[in-house]
Amino acid sequence: NMQLKGSDEDGFGIEIVLQQGDRKAPSCVHGPTLLFEKVCKGEQGRRFYACSACRDRKECPFFQWEDDKVSEARLLAREEENRSKMPPFTHQEYCSRFRKFLALPLGRKFCQDCQLLLLPGEWEIHASHKMSQADDITEARLSRPSLMLKPLENKKSNAQYLFADRSCHFLLDTLAKLGYRKVLCVGTPRLHELIKLRNQEGKSDPMKSLLLDIDFRYAQFYGKDEFCHYNMFNHHFFGGEAASGVLHAFLSEEDGEKVIMVSDPPFGGLVKPLAHSFSQISETWRKLQTSEGSVVEMPIVWIFPYFFEPRILECFPSFTMLDYQVDYDNHPLYKHGKTGRKQSPVRLFTNLTPRDIVLPKEEGYRFCKVCERYVWSGNKHCTKCNLCPSKVCISLSQAGKVRLHTWRHCQSCARCALPDHPCGNSPGLEGCFNCGSLKHKRRACPLKDKQRTDNKSKAKGGRNLPKQPIKSNSKRKSGAQRRANKLKKTE
Ligand code: SAH
Ligand code: ZN
Ligand code: ZN
Repeated sequence: NMQLKGSDEDGFGIEIVLQQGDRKAPSCVHGPTLLFEKVCKGEQGRRFYACSACRDRKECPFFQWEDDKVSEARLLAREEENRSKMPPFTHQEYCSRFRKFLALPLGRKFCQDCQLLLLPGEWEIHASHKMSQADDITEARLSRPSLMLKPLENKKSNAQYLFADRSCHFLLDTLAKLGYRKVLCVGTPRLHELIKLRNQEGKSDPMKSLLLDIDFRYAQFYGKDEFCHYNMFNHHFFGGEAASGVLHAFLSEEDGEKVIMVSDPPFGGLVKPLAHSFSQISETWRKLQTSEGSVVEMPIVWIFPYFFEPRILECFPSFTMLDYQVDYDNHPLYKHGKTGRKQSPVRLFTNLTPRDIVLPKEEGYRFCKVCERYVWSGNKHCTKCNLCPSKVCISLSQAGKVRLHTWRHCQSCARCALPDHPCGNSPGLEGCFNCGSLKHKRRACPLKDKQRTDNKSKAKGGRNLPKQPIKSNSKRKSGAQRRANKLKKTE
């Protein structure tokens, strides 16, 4: 079951077609949609637009076939609906509300039901709601919005898993030691928060931080130069050009301060669109570089489960997966119990030089001289592979218990693998979705483009079309996707 092959979205039969050229995708509430294509063995599917951010049609029902003719009236209705679902206040308004809130002489109230800092004029409408009162809303509390706001629990898209303190401190210490003074936090509200807290303590060199996140509740606490309402699956800034301008200003290193990006996307997220957005951020950064230095890539740390390694490396070949296990506060599987360490499957993927990232000895990491990087002490260097297999593998038994696996060198595969890996020519290997060959994946299929044109007419005729394409999307998943969901199911 721990098959790591099939390193792309091909596995589950829905492929993402990254938009090229000026063809404009229709927008849902979450900004421009993505173009998907259903792919079945030997059959070419019809393409459709669906939400970039939500994997579940209950969360965002947007659906449109690529070749649908949408009437003017429907377009207008759609625009109207998108507008109606926007946050109740603009960022500007949130900022001035926050100033008023801080200046309130008596009685601060935070509505837990609406997740909103209330101004006195609003108390009445929220009277029957669950409320935090003044004593609970100290300055200290207000500087920790990630504790105040209820983590979003949307299972399929933006579940929020907040870093445990020690992982968050480890990350920040590491970045500071490497000399970074600006951190672009993409979906890492707690890291952003910690940077501000440390600055307030004044014990270390000040660092700047900009949070990009789809959770606009954070706009209540942060100014326009600290937070942008952003969708990382389509690189969409809800605040338009003013907001993307904030990113530009932040990425420019004219002030001589080095910038790094840290992202911890939702695990159910598709790798390709994420990589596409990160590349766009990186490209913006590159264009802003004044010195013609040798560095061509923006430093990035992408936090994701280890079983996505092949997919991430496919998008970013210069990245390395580090052994560091990222711990979370509110994830039942990855957090530390009182009974000791639970193994987290979440790792750091980065284009930083691995040997520069010192993993803490007291947490069980050691330096491997051959690999020139810090590794989990349990992983013995394999002389045959000539590397330290960096996986402490975790799987869930039927009963939901966590099982650990050790990697061993496999003679027939000529690599380190799990004891029950699909060995050699195992029948479990899925072949090309296009021609059925076991020798390549659909992406590399020599017949791919030919099939595409040949099948166009069939697709138009509506044969083999899923009735509810997005639902069927969630039925056939890649191994990695399945494991990500399995981990989530235990919530
Ligand atoms: N470990 C991090 C939180 C990671 S949870 C920390 O402690 O700081 C994933 C984060 O990504 C959440 O903050 C969530 O709001 C955000 N997110 C989810 N979907 C997103 C999207 N489409 N675009 C931008 N941010 C998103
Ligand atoms: Zn949407
Ligand atoms: Zn309320």
